Amino acid sequence: MFQVVKNSSLKKYYRKYCRNSYRWINHFKNLYLDSSPKLIVLVYHHVLPNASYDPFDMTISFETFVSQITAVSKKYPIISLNEAVNQIKAGNFHRDIQVVLTFDDGYLDSYEIVFPYLKKRNIPAIFFLSTHTIEKEHFITWEQAREMSQNGMEIGSHGISHVSLSSLSPVAAVEEIWQSKKIIEENIDAACNHFAFPFGSKKDFNEELIQEVKGVGYQTCLLNIHGYNHLKLNSFCFKRIIMDEYTPINYLLG
Ligand SMILES: [Zn+2]
Repeated sequence: MFQVVKNSSLKKYYRKYCRNSYRWINHFKNLYLDSSPKLIVLVYHHVLPNASYDPFDMTISFETFVSQITAVSKKYPIISLNEAVNQIKAGNFHRDIQVVLTFDDGYLDSYEIVFPYLKKRNIPAIFFLSTHTIEKEHFITWEQAREMSQNGMEIGSHGISHVSLSSLSPVAAVEEIWQSKKIIEENIDAACNHFAFPFGSKKDFNEELIQEVKGVGYQTCLLNIHGYNHLKLNSFCFKRIIMDEYTPINYLLG
C-alpha cells in the first residue's frame, strides 16, 4: 500500500479524491433534500489541451472540460448571469436547478479554447477580466474580449490589478471596483454587470466591499466560497464551485 501511495500520480489522485469526497457527498445530500430554486455557478481558470499537474487546481484539460459541460448541459439549463438576474428581478425561476459558467482571469485559452467551443454549442458564459492584465502576454486582448461579448458571452470585472481587495485601503479598493467597470465598458462597448472578487475567499472581501460593488451598479458579485445558491428576490452574492480535473461531476449532478 505504501508503495502505491508513493507513486506520485496516484498520490495526487488520493489527495484530491479524499479532500473532495466529504464535500461532495454533503453537497449532493443538500441539493436533493431541498427543492427550492437553485443556481449552481461553476468557476474555471485555465482550460488547456493537456492538463499537467497543477497544485493550485487552476488547470483542466479540454477533454475533461468538454465531458463536464456535456454532462451538465444534458441535465440542467446553462444560462447567462444576466438571465439569472432577470429571473431574480422577476422572482420567476424557470427551473429548480440552473447552471452558470464563469471563467476567471482572462487567460488566452479562454479565447482560443473555451470561447470557440461554447460559441459552437450556443452555451453562454461569463469571463471575468482584471483590466491590468488585458493585452499582456498569455492574456486576452480587448479586441478578443469585444468579439466574445458580441457573440453571446458576458464580460465581468475581476478588478484592476488582481489583488485581494481587503488588503487595500478602502479608497484603493473602491477604485478597483468602479474603475474596472468603467474601463471594461469603454473597451467592449457593452455593460459590465458583474464583479468577481479576486481570490474570492472569506478573507478577500467583506460586507463593506460588497456594498461598494452594489453601490457602483453591479448586479451580482461572485465569490470563491464553495456551494450552490438559493435563488430568491434580491440575491446578490453567489458562491461558486471550483472546477478541476478531479471534480466528480456525477456527484454535482446527482
Ligand atoms: Zn482570479
